[in-house]
Amino acid sequence: MKIPRKIKRYCKFCKKHTEQKVSILSTGGKRGSLKKGSMKRAKKRGLARGTGNKGRWGSKPAVNKWKRRAKSTQRKVLMYKCAVCGKSLGKSQGIRTGRLMMKEK
Ligand SMILES: [Zn+2]
Repeated sequence: MKIPRKIKRYCKFCKKHTEQKVSILSTGGKRGSLKKGSMKRAKKRGLARGTGNKGRWGSKPAVNKWKRRAKSTQRKVLMYKCAVCGKSLGKSQGIRTGRLMMKEK
């Protein structure tokens, strides 16, 4: 899906329609990746590497990536920045789409 870089939209601070810049919010880091007992920390310690039985760290994930059919799209959240007052609006429910790109100008 392609979205325009600028949209004329209602600004609740200016209380009228203004030109607004559109940006896609990043997904951020993975939750709990640096928690105690996490795979990431174990790998940094040097566990769960190389060959042989890895015990706790050895088993495969429950569902392989290529088996995954349920969620082939992601929810993308858009932010709108008002050109008049400079305030950011948005962070709504987001839209479900496979890929989100900015329209070329
Ligand atoms: Zn505004």
